[in-house]
Amino acid sequence: MPIGGAGARGRQRAALSRLAHEKSVDSTLGKLLDELEPYAATLPYDSNEASLIRVAKRDFERAIKVPSDHVARASAFGAESYEAWKRARPANDFATMLPFLQRGIDLGREYADFFAPYHHVADPLIDDADEGMTAASVRRLFAALRADLVPMVDSITEQSAADDRCLHGYFGESAQLAFCLSVIKRIGYDFQRGRLDKTVHPFCTRLSAGDVRITTRVFENDLTQALFSSLHEAGHALYEQSVDPVLEGTPLGRGASVGAHESQSRLWENVVGRSRGFWEYFYPLLQRTFPGQFDRVRLDTFYRAINKVERSLIRTEADEVTYNLHIMLRFELELKMLEGTLRPKDLPEAWRAGMDSYVGVVPSDDRDGCLQDVHWFSGIMGGGFQSYTIGNILSAQFYAAAIKANPNIPQEIAAGEFGTLHAWLRENLYRQGRKFKPSELVRRVTGEQMNTDPYLSYLRAKYADRIQA
Ligand code: ZN
Repeated sequence: MPIGGAGARGRQRAALSRLAHEKSVDSTLGKLLDELEPYAATLPYDSNEASLIRVAKRDFERAIKVPSDHVARASAFGAESYEAWKRARPANDFATMLPFLQRGIDLGREYADFFAPYHHVADPLIDDADEGMTAASVRRLFAALRADLVPMVDSITEQSAADDRCLHGYFGESAQLAFCLSVIKRIGYDFQRGRLDKTVHPFCTRLSAGDVRITTRVFENDLTQALFSSLHEAGHALYEQSVDPVLEGTPLGRGASVGAHESQSRLWENVVGRSRGFWEYFYPLLQRTFPGQFDRVRLDTFYRAINKVERSLIRTEADEVTYNLHIMLRFELELKMLEGTLRPKDLPEAWRAGMDSYVGVVPSDDRDGCLQDVHWFSGIMGGGFQSYTIGNILSAQFYAAAIKANPNIPQEIAAGEFGTLHAWLRENLYRQGRKFKPSELVRRVTGEQMNTDPYLSYLRAKYADRIQA
């Protein structure tokens, strides 16, 4: 879309949001759902029919609490704020974004109040993304994780950083895209029902089960951008492409929650895509794709380069170990802004202090500081960040369950075979769509509640040679 189309697109989206919302709160729908409830009670809990009635009823009850006027205002505001942010961030112009930030906070509080009473003002916003989670439960989860991650980061970064010069030569765009294409095809992304295109900020979008598109961005001086964003978005897409086709067109026909979705992008991007075995298979292909550039780079050097750990400023470029610390900072600041204990004008200062304490580096400007993420500048404030860390935690938990069921998966990955892993995820997780609440889904798939043990074991095993005993 040309930049001139943004204003009208914002108005169109607001109109469509209002219309869709009005239909979703039609009282006839409510009456039909009431009539269906006794029927659902006669069916098995995990049947498609009972699940459809249960989830549709829950969606309806949430939707009727929110006035159409709020939905339209929030949508129009999101588009306007995003356009302003696109210019303000490169210009390091926090002052321009301050009124937008305030408005986003006000809208977040207004939204939360439709669900009053709540324990914490962020609870309804968190529940929207990760049903069943609250500010308190996320804080507990993050505190436990932080206690283990901080010494891990200290220990790893005390040693000399991995040499990642091999990732920063010149890598032509068409060769990079061809390589990305063959990698995501190999892991199971179906190009009969999808495509890969270029964009500024990579994303995955589902138009239907038969059309799940992904995007990437190519930096010719950095091999990792296109490669790992393609794997990340392909992970989201594998999930959407594998939801049971009979659920298509119903409220169940997509992923279970934002955190569950992020677990799949992270599983394919990091747990699989940054594993040693994955590159035992793909490294020779990479060497052939960029003739001469990796001749004198050993696989081990490349593997360490793509897993380099360092304290850095930008969340989206952070490594697996420090990444969650970036999220924890955002989550805390977001809660404080919604509570009213942090004034928006004080955000840049709070950001710098928080970066120092959470990550151990401080940005010199707001562009690489509090302006860096689109989340606070493209809609209502709240519930936007916790899902990334929930996703990381679940990525390792789901993967561990897959390995337990099929111990050969790591050897298969090293041979370029992804069918067993993909099929296990499809049968146990992807097919279910939105039938179950995230907590129910995690218990059904892994036999346990969500917990940080598999994730911490995964990181400890991966960085064993860099973590002092
Ligand atoms: Zn994602």
